Amino acid sequence: MEFNYSKSNLPKKLFINNEFVASKNPKKLELFNPRDGSLVANDVDLAGEQDVDAAVAAAEKAFPAWKKFTPIARRDIMVKFASLVEKHGPALAELSRITLGAPYGAFGAFEVGLCAEAFRYNAGWIDKFAGESYPQEDGFLKIVRNEPLGVTAGIVPWNGPLGTVGLKAGPALATGNCFILKPSEKTPFASLALGPLIVEAGFPPGVFQVLSGDGMTGALISSHMRIRKVSFTGSIPTGKRIQEAAAKSNLKRVTLELGGKSPAVVFDDANLENAVTWLANAITANTGQVCFAATRVYVQEGIYDKFVAGYKKALQEKAKTIGDPEDEKTIMGPLIDKAQFDRVTGFIERGKNGQGTLLTGGSRVGDRGFYIEPTVFENVKADAEIITQEIFGPVAVLNSFKTEEEIIEKSNNTNFGLMAGVFTQDVNRALRMASAFDSGMVGVNCVSLMMMNAPFGGTKESGLGRECGRDALLAFTDRKTIMVNMNY
Ligand code: NAD
Repeated sequence: MEFNYSKSNLPKKLFINNEFVASKNPKKLELFNPRDGSLVANDVDLAGEQDVDAAVAAAEKAFPAWKKFTPIARRDIMVKFASLVEKHGPALAELSRITLGAPYGAFGAFEVGLCAEAFRYNAGWIDKFAGESYPQEDGFLKIVRNEPLGVTAGIVPWNGPLGTVGLKAGPALATGNCFILKPSEKTPFASLALGPLIVEAGFPPGVFQVLSGDGMTGALISSHMRIRKVSFTGSIPTGKRIQEAAAKSNLKRVTLELGGKSPAVVFDDANLENAVTWLANAITANTGQVCFAATRVYVQEGIYDKFVAGYKKALQEKAKTIGDPEDEKTIMGPLIDKAQFDRVTGFIERGKNGQGTLLTGGSRVGDRGFYIEPTVFENVKADAEIITQEIFGPVAVLNSFKTEEEIIEKSNNTNFGLMAGVFTQDVNRALRMASAFDSGMVGVNCVSLMMMNAPFGGTKESGLGRECGRDALLAFTDRKTIMVNMNY
């Protein structure tokens, strides 16, 4: 099996038991190109019940041996896989770009790096994560082991089709689980193309499988009686459905990485240039289709006018980088598809209708494809939908504030809690704010970023559980306590 995929040779079959097999389900996925809305393919396999069952059966068969692989053997396979992902990085990014529209330099290369790094990082944990033991003063030796769960799955969204694979498959496989990947119906190609790399790296059949499909496939996975864990990244409504399905089936473990409407607070004493740079990048990276984008910006009165001038200019500069994602110079590509375009422009049009004042952007770019200007509204009403709902496009709202107390209340007045940012040179204030934010992550003089070795995830409706760091491995294991009577 050879990796020879490109936009003119797309992988379209399911990857089960280390082979490409045709789906038993006659329905197919249809894929479109966001550059111009043209059809990319209408014959991509959509896994149905029999396909999910076949993958689960193969994984169950593979699990006992895979679990017993020595840490070094498992590590070597994962490290080799990481290198193969990098070797084929430009091709994998192209396979994502065809339907996502993300330029290579500005996003595709980052995605490839994140996926490879997640495999390497988690591989490094393998021989350091067996568990621990506690002393026997009471006459009992306690040994705690981190045990793999068995058959696990990852259901991922379209906005990070490769990075999210690494964040889920990396810890799942490192801890000795078998793993079934269900990519988004909008971005299946890079995931399916991993097939030959899985074989070449040395994963035994059934250990790492890929099922392209839609929400129906995801629902079959999350309600499956023999899948023991689902790690999900996507929207809040789907996350709730998955948790419900998990509870109603076999109480499988669930990790949920969901939406956000992250606040960023810029105090009078902030380094203006730094704040502007982070905040302009936050809403334009991947054309704003990023869960932890800082989309609610609050700026203290004393610095407000200066900030507005700098932020507006920076976003207008970003607007000049909008273009064809195939062009190396492009930083902002199109939104993924017509549905997303209609959703984002709908928010913008309703926003123009009395929810706030349009500061910059607000229009479509060109008349083909789904390109849109970075858009900011200021003086936005507290209950306006553009400030309360996740838009998932290059759109931010900007308001001024007076006091720290006032802005803590405003920042936390949301059902989301993924990330928050504070910009100030006063270390005490930074730490007070970091404690006060009701969010899973806080950036101080930075925002909308992630680190492989630091827990990633949200509070409130932004999620449940954490990815990255040691937490990610814990989420794919159950703790087994062994008590040894030393007096026997
Ligand atoms: P989505 O919820 O529509 O779909 C995500 C995945 O779930 C897809 O693979 C889809 O096929 C599957 N799915 C759909 N219905 C299902 C069901 N009933 N049961 C099981 N699976 C089902 O989300 P999306 O539009 O692909 O992604 C955008 C959302 O993802 C945004 O809200 C964004 O904030 C969020 N997101 C969160 C993070 C994070 O780490 N917190 C990262 C990226 C994206």
